[in-house]
Amino acid sequence: MTVQRNPAHTAYPTPLIETPASFRTSTRAVHGGVDRQKPHHVLTTPIYQTATFTFNDTADLLTFVNEQHDEPEREEYGRYGNPTTNAVERKLAVLDSGEQAILYASGMAALSSVLLASLPTGAHIIMTNDCYRRTRQFCEVYLSRLGIETSVVPVGDYEEMENAIRPGRTRYIVSESPTNPFMRVADLPRIADIGKRHGIRTLIDSTFATPINQRPLEWGIDLVVHSGTKYLGGHNDLLAGAVIGSGAIMEALREARGILGGVVDPQNAFLLERGLKTLAIRVRQHNATAQAVASFLEDHPRIERVWYPGLASHPDHAIATAQMSGFGGVVTFAVRGTLEETSRFIDALRIPYISPSLGGVESLVSQPAILTYHDKSPEERAELGITDNLVRLSIGIEDTEDLLNDLEQALDTL
Ligand SMILES: *Cc1c(COP(=O)(O)O)cnc(C)c1O
Repeated sequence: MTVQRNPAHTAYPTPLIETPASFRTSTRAVHGGVDRQKPHHVLTTPIYQTATFTFNDTADLLTFVNEQHDEPEREEYGRYGNPTTNAVERKLAVLDSGEQAILYASGMAALSSVLLASLPTGAHIIMTNDCYRRTRQFCEVYLSRLGIETSVVPVGDYEEMENAIRPGRTRYIVSESPTNPFMRVADLPRIADIGKRHGIRTLIDSTFATPINQRPLEWGIDLVVHSGTKYLGGHNDLLAGAVIGSGAIMEALREARGILGGVVDPQNAFLLERGLKTLAIRVRQHNATAQAVASFLEDHPRIERVWYPGLASHPDHAIATAQMSGFGGVVTFAVRGTLEETSRFIDALRIPYISPSLGGVESLVSQPAILTYHDKSPEERAELGITDNLVRLSIGIEDTEDLLNDLEQALDTL
């Protein structure tokens, strides 16, 4: 007996996934990678909340395993792929100018999976110093257990970066841009050039920039990583991560994800896609308010220093202007005061929540000396530039005037 498939079920939409190159960022954010014909003519991407996929009979299974079936993106098991997740991956690839994106359960899952999947024992990587603390910990503690060594070089020192290369052993150059918390902007074409000349893969954690403000692949970088938890999701309500790139490396990483297992849940993938549709409009607001806040703080007598790449005073302002179309929503600054006075200023703020994350619609504020680096000694903190009076502000999408007024009244309490 041959089993007739229900055409309504097998008529998986012929993908009509075309995102014309002429589309700009907002249009890409809304329509990029989206299948225009979905099952049941629904508008939004369905949440396929399933752990596994089925086969009608053994013959059907055989066409699948022999790759003779005619259903695009047919899946077997949730760790290898899911139609909801696939849709979001297509959108991310379009947004960041890559051929493929791969989603993960978190930014750390993305970063650790890429490095675990592609570094052999005895390999060596170079990373820049001002970066997400857990990334550095993963490289220095976990990779070193596998015999993989990490050299940390100062962000912005390209001679030292090149000098750190160990011929035949160095496999990756890893940098954030902008960095956390000092918003240093790496010279992407320069890093790409070093990588190409020495046959070393380059990876940029572009979380702080988003594909709206910066697209590292367009500057010759090999791989981009994002914590989707931040701007991409944008609503402080999910954890996700992504890697975007082109070529055979992406196939290898996809296969590795099926083994390492750091997949995103379909429900979260849906929320991420929902967030991505408003990414461009949100980022424009973050950029505009952050610029206004940075200028306001720089002129304020109770502020010692401000780090924001949109300010002419920032060490990387010229690089940022050349390769970014906006400078992001994080402003880091030092208050004129002690640890306690800085905490008092933070406690006097009414709009931002005290919280370690960033990139969402709600403004969040943190005092890195107490929050992120609470377990480090004052000497260790000083080495990282984390002074007691440092404040990191992630600007949400509240009204600019309200945020400025809030900062002013809190500074007045000092
Ligand atoms: C938050 C963050 C990460 C880690 O992402 P998770 O989603 O929290 O795992 C990595 N890099 C940067 C720059 C981040 O801000």
